[in-house]
Parts: sequence; C-alpha cells; structure tokens
Amino acid sequence: MNPSEFAKRNGGCNGCVFVENYEVTACHGVNPEEKIDAQRFLISAWLDCDVTRAAETDDIDQTISYSAVCKRIKAFFLQESRNLLEYLATGTARMLAKEFPLAERVTVTVRKPDAPMKGVFDAVGVTAAVRRSVAYVALGSSMGDRAAYLDRALELLSADELVLSVRESTRIVTPPYGGVAQGEFLNSVAEVVTLHTPESLLALLQEIERSCGRERLKRWDDRTLDLDILFFGEEVRGSGRLTLPHPDMENRLFVLQPLAELAPAFIHPLTGRRVSEMLRALKDGR
Ligand code: ATP
Ligand code: MG
Ligand code: MG
Repeated sequence: MNPSEFAKRNGGCNGCVFVENYEVTACHGVNPEEKIDAQRFLISAWLDCDVTRAAETDDIDQTISYSAVCKRIKAFFLQESRNLLEYLATGTARMLAKEFPLAERVTVTVRKPDAPMKGVFDAVGVTAAVRRSVAYVALGSSMGDRAAYLDRALELLSADELVLSVRESTRIVTPPYGGVAQGEFLNSVAEVVTLHTPESLLALLQEIERSCGRERLKRWDDRTLDLDILFFGEEVRGSGRLTLPHPDMENRLFVLQPLAELAPAFIHPLTGRRVSEMLRALKDGR
C-alpha cells in the first residue's frame, strides 16, 4: 500500500500492523465440492492503530502482534465451512477488532487464487472493513416500570454482537420536556463502544425501543423507552432519518448532565464546544 492510500484509509491513526497474503488451506465456497476439497485462501489484514507507545518503549505488549493475528485468522478459517468470501472477510475483520482492542479500524481482504472459475486470473476476493467507534446514547422513560425499561435496554445493547462495551451514567429523574408528556422521566446516558455504523446502531436502538413497547403517536409524548444517539464519534449527518450530533442537546439538562459525567471533554464536532462548557452555559442561562 502506498503512503497516500494508507493516509486516506486509516484516518486518524499513525500506524498500522498488517499481514499480507497469509495462506490458510480450508473448505469454503458455494459449490458443494469446495466444502470437501480444501483450497488455498490468501488473507490480508490491516489493523490501524497508534504505534507511538510501542515505538517509544520497544515493548511487544504495547502493540498488536502480527503472529497472534495470524493465529486468530487461521483458527477462524478452520471453523465450519461457509459459502461466501463476504462472510469470511467481514467475520475476520470483526473478530480481529474484538480480539485486538488497540486496533481502531480493521480491513481484511480474502483472496481465492484457485477459485473454480474459467479464465486466467491471479485471484478473486472480497475486502471488508470495520471501525471501532464510541457513541453516546441518551436513554429516557416516562411510562410503566421506567428503571426496568432502562435495564432492559442496556441488557439488549450489551448482548449485541457488534457492541463491545456499555457504560451508563448515573440515572436522574427529570420533568417532562417539550410540553406534551405528563410523566416524570428517568434519564441517563450510555457510552457505547461499537463496531456498528451510525445507521446500523440507530436500527438496533429502534428495535430495542419496539421490543420495550415504544409507540410513536405524538412527538415528545410519554414513552416506555426513548433511545437517541447524541454523538457517534465525530460523525455528522443531516438526513431526517438520522441527524448527528443529536440536535437540541444544548437545551437539554437531562442530556447534558449525565453526558458530562461520562465525557466532559468531548468536543461537539459542529460547534467546537466541550460537553462541560455546554452544560455550564445551560445552567448559567447563556
Ligand atoms: P427528539 O429526537 O427531539 O428527542 P424523540 O426522541 O421523541 O424526539 P423519536 O420519535 O424517538 O423522537 O424519533 C423520531 C425520529 O428521529 C426517528 O424515527 C429517527 O429516525 C430520527 N432521528 C434522527 N436523528 C436521530 C438520532 N440522532 N437518534 C435517534 N433518532 C434520530
Ligand atoms: Mg428523544
Ligand atoms: Mg428518539
């Protein structure tokens, strides 16, 4: 990979640990004979990470060991037969991102040099990438057993295979916002480390809301569970389906107070203001 390709792909990180064309012989493919007769797979993995600590200390424990990466790749490919390179490339990328927390982004290419296909070619293959992101999710409930809905939301979130960790703030009881809901709210914010994209995290949150009986009759009305994405890393989105960062957070004490407990120094990517500054400004009426 040339340096400009590297810089384009690896946004933010200053290094990458990689292996190229690591060979594993295994039985994957759509054709029935490919599940019996093993063939060669050439697997490349690029794990974008900060290499500064390892460079300073010269200590293997401060980086990602490429031999450990190869061991994991081999074990993954020797599991049960699969049909598609898409499954293998995506599965390998997710597995490596989970196994190696220093990796902020993992890109995997799986090549099949001996694919059962007519014609002359070096290899066919598939590339997949995943990124580790930190999202902040606002939780709110004003109906029924509010604490149980928040508990259930966190449980379902933590159980998702692309959610790596969940850390919740203190819960606070707050008055209804927006002049429609009548009940008091129980609110908190969760820090979610995830391999999801913003769109797939929103889909997961909406599925969790539905499973907790959320109905949308009137905007800002009482609800069993509301899950809003406040920040998804530094991502900015402007569509109706997903707006990032979540608009109106600067006016919501029930959002800023728990958010400031988890991430006071986080900077709003559009306004440049820290969460702690937004909270102080709202409290001071500025
Ligand atoms: P508010 O967003 O002002 O807090 P609400 O949470 O009560 O209001 P919902 O009925 O939960 O509003 O959501 C309405 C729509 O908002 C959803 O269908 C969703 O697609 C969209 N939406 C846009 N941006 C976000 C976001 N950052 N997080 C969650 N939903 C969002
Ligand atoms: Mg909301
Ligand atoms: Mg909502």
